[in-house]
Amino acid sequence: MKQEFIFIGPPGSGKGTQTILLSKEYNLPHIDTGSLLREEIAMGTKEGKLADSFISKGQLAPIEVVSSIIKNRLKRTDCSNGFILDGYPRSVEQLTALDNILKEIDGNNKVSLKAFYFDIAQDELIERLVNRRTCKNCGAIYNLKTMNLKDKNKCEKCGGELIKRDDDTEEVAKKRFETYFNQTAPLIELYEKRGQLIRIDASRTIDEIYKELTGAVKENVYS
Ligand code: AMP
Repeated sequence: MKQEFIFIGPPGSGKGTQTILLSKEYNLPHIDTGSLLREEIAMGTKEGKLADSFISKGQLAPIEVVSSIIKNRLKRTDCSNGFILDGYPRSVEQLTALDNILKEIDGNNKVSLKAFYFDIAQDELIERLVNRRTCKNCGAIYNLKTMNLKDKNKCEKCGGELIKRDDDTEEVAKKRFETYFNQTAPLIELYEKRGQLIRIDASRTIDEIYKELTGAVKENVYS
């Protein structure tokens, strides 16, 4: 059965860290719309140019841009056994768009879809975001405050350069939370009503959360 996993949670809740690990363990592509949009910006495409001004203000990029990027990505053959969506859908409108995209791609195939919600209080998160660094090369995520890095500019996994995202400032982070609560949080109830929601207490350690997630994923894969 095709395994479709969706991750919802406020900025800095740890979705990225966990979905990268899960993707390796279960050999499912990790599809993260934030990174796909940043790639478009770096390549200077029309989509990237359109999305840029929204990202720098902490707002959602236009739905046409995101839908077209995600549709092309989900159609690729590496998604035939399933995928891990990190940061998509992010609004009720995007959920409807995703339903339509999956209807087209999956047809009558057997599919299991689960949405993991990373539940965590907002107070901790701004500090996490401003201290977050990402490897330019492999995408690994670090926290300068809680992780004892030998070199704050170098990835411990691949030696790549660690960078701070332009939108990981206190000012933009506050806007991103507003966007999350107004537009993304309503999805939690919708997935719950569909019987597809799994709540994760995201205030725990990376290892504790990973253990719970792999347990839930295994149960789903082998059920
Ligand atoms: P992230 O890397 O998930 O924190 O996303 C960074 C930024 O990219 C967000 O604040 C949005 O501006 C934009 N973005 C990411 N995913 C989406 C999405 N599904 N829809 C619209 N904008 C998005």
